[in-house]
Amino acid sequence: MMWGDPTSKSLRTYLHLTGSNVDREMYRHYGITEPEEKRPANTPLQCRKCGEIFPPGTGFCSVCGAALSDKYQNVDQEFNRIIEDPVLLSSLIDKLKRLQDIGK
Ligand SMILES: [Zn+2]
Repeated sequence: MMWGDPTSKSLRTYLHLTGSNVDREMYRHYGITEPEEKRPANTPLQCRKCGEIFPPGTGFCSVCGAALSDKYQNVDQEFNRIIEDPVLLSSLIDKLKRLQDIGK
């Protein structure tokens, strides 16, 4: 075996998971964007859905449309809730039409 006995003391010294390793893997597994306070400000954003990379500050993935940050994740979830409810969707369309009429 390449690494020797998995129960050995020396292997346990070097092989361990930190809380951040576990958190990161849980976020990745459930497709959740990692909380922004854990990510340096200038770090490029990777879409959890399709893997595409975007510059910091990008809101949504231009490939698959998924939200790239917590802030936009909430907007994305709310938007999905609205478009799946015919009453809310109809209300949104009416409001958008009124806004469009104001803009003319
Ligand atoms: Zn994507």
